[in-house]
Amino acid sequence: MKKVLVIGGGLSGLTAAAYLSHNNFDVTLLESTNKLGGKTHSTQDRATGVEIDNGQHILLGCYFETLNFLRLISSVDSLKIQEQFSINYLLQDFKIFKLKSVNFFYPLNLLHGFIFFELLSFNDKISLIKLLLKLKFIDSNSLNDLTVKDWLLKENQTQNSTNIFWEIICVGALNISTEIASAKLFCDILKQIFWTGGNSFKIILPKYSLNETFINPAEKFLFRNNVKFYKSEKCEKIFIDDNKIIGVQTNKRNFKDFDYYLIAVPFYSFKSFNILNTHNLEITYSPIVNIYVWLNSNPLTEPFYSVVNSPIHWIFNKGSFINITISNAINLVEKSKNEIEEIISDELDKFIPGLSKEIIRILIIKEKRATFIPSKEILEKRFKSKTIISNLFLAGDWTDTKLPSTIEGAIKSGRIAAEEIINDSFNKS
Ligand SMILES: Cc1cc2nc3c(=O)[nH]c(=O)nc-3n(C[C@H](O)[C@H](O)[C@H](O)COP(=O)(O)OP(=O)(O)OC[C@H]3O[C@@H](n4cnc5c(N)ncnc54)[C@H](O)[C@@H]3O)c2cc1C
Repeated sequence: MKKVLVIGGGLSGLTAAAYLSHNNFDVTLLESTNKLGGKTHSTQDRATGVEIDNGQHILLGCYFETLNFLRLISSVDSLKIQEQFSINYLLQDFKIFKLKSVNFFYPLNLLHGFIFFELLSFNDKISLIKLLLKLKFIDSNSLNDLTVKDWLLKENQTQNSTNIFWEIICVGALNISTEIASAKLFCDILKQIFWTGGNSFKIILPKYSLNETFINPAEKFLFRNNVKFYKSEKCEKIFIDDNKIIGVQTNKRNFKDFDYYLIAVPFYSFKSFNILNTHNLEITYSPIVNIYVWLNSNPLTEPFYSVVNSPIHWIFNKGSFINITISNAINLVEKSKNEIEEIISDELDKFIPGLSKEIIRILIIKEKRATFIPSKEILEKRFKSKTIISNLFLAGDWTDTKLPSTIEGAIKSGRIAAEEIINDSFNKS
């Protein structure tokens, strides 16, 4: 049995460990913190005992890698997939407009949704539908030098269709504004969302916490496959001899005699190992702020809302509390608790008059390095899983998956890294 040391217990490391152990590799996994999950984790809220995620995660029907992984670890039923694609748009004074596909042939069901969507004018709809139809035939490489904003202007998208539709997808999927995001990556994602089948654009939400949906089932699966875990074990040094890793040192001990080493940590941690030339890659990050608001009485009836023309992007309805998500939160992340609470109370009152009076408690979770910024420069320089060091492989949402910094990207990177190791081992046997 070949031995693999996986360093990093986020989704990329857990996926790699799952596929490797499923293929009869002897896997050991190191995680620097005392819990698995990395950027997808939940903690117990001390005041209420409720398990709170570090941030609401939205998935899409085109998350094929994620769905396969969850099938493998028997957790796919933890997801709630929309029967029909629908988004509730929340405007000031509690006005709600629905963008909803109908029970009809794809893609006509989606087109029907746009045609009857009241927030868009006739011109908005024509330009938007034209681009959606044209998408399938666009070579995204031709957009290499453009930002999303440049591209949308080139494609004659109206200001309103950009605000109401494109901006929401761009900020939601790439966590950055249209002025910065790469048009090529955006176009590739749009193709996956709108042109890979009738379920791809449906929104998926975990029914339970991130721990219950992803991390606990993954840990159970790995445990059954005899994976050895070492938590609170930070990899600090990596020893290389003759172009091979010969061992690693953690804050507690040394690990050696593995056939393969798979590093699945964020780029900023990987850089600190100083083992490959990382000088050409300068990754910067975009923050996400999640605000949990407990309410005396909650007037919301839908599972989630996209908030129009507000610093608040999404509101997720959790019954006794709501989860407000602010992506691309550069302007908010350095603000104090009081300042953020004030902004949130004001915004809530604008959109749902009187709601601030119902607030019992507010909890703010800031993730400063939530996702990497997918600028053109970074996308061209992402590292492949297979490296020049013969027994070193990489995973992580920042590696070359052709996807943005998402659950799907992290899981795809873990699956690719596992496959590379399985192939390498097969070729050597
Ligand atoms: C608030 C928030 C909201 C998000 N929303 C969405 C969303 O709606 N949809 C979506 O698809 N994606 C979303 N994402 C992105 C998604 O969560 C990440 O892309 C994904 O979880 C990254 O997984 P990863 O394994 O690549 O990295 P990580 O999760 O960062 O995992 C790396 C692991 O390595 C460990 N580690 C680091 N250094 C060492 C070391 N030296 N030794 C040992 N271990 C080490 C870390 O502790 C960590 O556990 C969101 C992220 C955040 C933060």
